Amino acid sequence: IQKRIESGVQPIICVKGGKVSDYNGKSLLAIGVSTILIEPEMEAVADLREWMTLYYNITNFIHLSVSCTTTLSEISSMQLKVLESFPIYRVIATMKEMKTDEFYYNACINVVNAQQCGRKTTQTANGWFCSYCNIEFANMEFKYALKMCIKDSSSHVWAIAFQEVAQEIVGMPAKELATMRYENYLALSLHIDGIRSKIYNFKIWSKLEKYQDMTCC
Ligand SMILES: [Zn+2]
Repeated sequence: IQKRIESGVQPIICVKGGKVSDYNGKSLLAIGVSTILIEPEMEAVADLREWMTLYYNITNFIHLSVSCTTTLSEISSMQLKVLESFPIYRVIATMKEMKTDEFYYNACINVVNAQQCGRKTTQTANGWFCSYCNIEFANMEFKYALKMCIKDSSSHVWAIAFQEVAQEIVGMPAKELATMRYENYLALSLHIDGIRSKIYNFKIWSKLEKYQDMTCC
């Protein structure tokens, strides 16, 4: 695939049973059960090639999966039918509650191919160890894993906002919020009140699982 792309060809790749990941941007992963076919001789591939030749460069793409909003109760009922897939929804909702005891994790600061690893580290006697990089560092970075209960007029769900999104919602880096929590709890409460007073346009990646049997009312 790499050789074809380097030679200027855009190969059509069919993936069955792939996994779509939202970590550090969209990516499509092949896993154990995946099947990958490069330019298979199929009518659909020929049609797609013809369409690409004519229209690809002049088409404005609309992301259908996130182009319209859904209510939270619709998401809850749809989750029961989509155990094997992880659809993305857009919802207009407010933040009802957010967890202020465990809102960040200690992220790996190792940089690989100009991108920070960012995975969770474990504390050791001398610093922080990342099992993915197999490296121990003296420091780590506070990164958000903000657990929040969001609600609209139909229902509520618990969701987790990670680094960039959480920072946009909270309006400050995770380390700053942690400092505020330890040094000035009243300021933290007032700040959270401000977050709760806004209406958000959330993009939710949905996966059916219970978080510590938690319910929100
Ligand atoms: Zn790492």
